[in-house]
Amino acid sequence: MSLDVFEQLESVVRGYVRNFPAVFDRAQGAWLHDVDGKAYLDFFSGASVLNYGHNPPELKKALIDYISRDGITHSLDMASKAKADFMQTFHDRILKPRGLNHKIQFPGPTGTNSVEAALKLVRKVTGREKVISFTNAFHGMTLGALSVTGNAFKRAGAGLPLTHSDTMPFYGYFGDEVDTIEYIDKMLQDQGSGVDLPAAVIVETVQAEGGVNVADLKWLKDLEALCRRYEMLFIVDDIQMGCGRTGKFFSFEDAGLDPDIICLSKSISGYGLPLALTLIKPEYDIWEPGEHNGTFRGHNLAFITAAESLNRFWSDDSLSRETERKGELMRQGLLQIAAKHPDAKGTVRGRGMMQAIHFENIDMAGTVSKHAFQRGLIIETSGPDGEVLKLMPPLVTDDADIQKGLEIIDAALAEAVRLEGRDSQPVRVIRD
Ligand SMILES: *Cc1c(COP(=O)(O)O)cnc(C)c1O
Repeated sequence: MSLDVFEQLESVVRGYVRNFPAVFDRAQGAWLHDVDGKAYLDFFSGASVLNYGHNPPELKKALIDYISRDGITHSLDMASKAKADFMQTFHDRILKPRGLNHKIQFPGPTGTNSVEAALKLVRKVTGREKVISFTNAFHGMTLGALSVTGNAFKRAGAGLPLTHSDTMPFYGYFGDEVDTIEYIDKMLQDQGSGVDLPAAVIVETVQAEGGVNVADLKWLKDLEALCRRYEMLFIVDDIQMGCGRTGKFFSFEDAGLDPDIICLSKSISGYGLPLALTLIKPEYDIWEPGEHNGTFRGHNLAFITAAESLNRFWSDDSLSRETERKGELMRQGLLQIAAKHPDAKGTVRGRGMMQAIHFENIDMAGTVSKHAFQRGLIIETSGPDGEVLKLMPPLVTDDADIQKGLEIIDAALAEAVRLEGRDSQPVRVIRD
């Protein structure tokens, strides 16, 4: 099937269809199939929306049963059984065992909706305007979320000044020698710094879109302590790294953090259905009824699959342990690949099943992604210049498929290095 209809009818804003030019039709687990029957191994997982794979059978069954009995689909925020069941399950399986008593806000179905709600609320709670965000942060594409996002290209799309935020250096931004927490501390303390006391700090534990920049756990803990010291609220955007991507359900558990507000979306429905949550410590839950809302905040089909995903995958710690084990498998595989192709100058980084290779030559990752696609592997790039090859298979991918994906990356990298040597035109990849 040709891609003509996409070229003729869809806006030029389209992105991933350019990098992965196939018409997809069916999917199961870690595998996608196009209309011509070609199979692709998915190391992208819809940007970590599909942590439990495509169409997980137990979730599909729960969904079909619910639809078949005419379960309610849309309900704004009227009370529905599906929503009650989801909240109770989320409380019992996720919040309570971790000692969290956060209230659950349903801000509208996308990640950026969750971030906008968080930004509004921290301003309302503190009466302050500024929010500190970090270099290479990504928090979404609406204006508030863009104002705390680093990427110049995405920011420029706003077409107006993005204000009421201050960018601070993320962990390691100035290299290993500089502790950026000390830098931020100094900026906040110094009455001559020009930095007003902010309402909050918003951070990702691993900056996925920003190039798989992994924050040191102690740095995160120090950042939280800084927030407490200056009475700034502490927001963790766990939209992409939450729901088990790094191992534990929340990516901040390993650092022992206690965020005031947590943003969740992407894999929370477990099935690729839109759903987002903003989790709020009870003392900060000071909204007026209806002060923030969204038409699709009551997406009951997503509640059904979300509750089922928690029952199926989070009744014990086996998924977490498997993710940590498989993440190490990926890391070791990438280290071997990097060592085998020293000319590519690749360095490996990541946490859990979010692993990546950063290349010194910024065109390399895009070229590898393109050649991997031709070999039947879907894998994307990230970072300000698309210089990072980002591996995010579904958490349920088995060892054999992980190995298969690594072999394709190895072959694609060999091809990219060979082409590089021949000084051919590098391929630039358009992202998002
Ligand atoms: C994807 C993402 C968002 C935005 O989510 P959308 O559903 O695309 O609006 C925000 N923050 C992080 C960390 C993300 O990965």
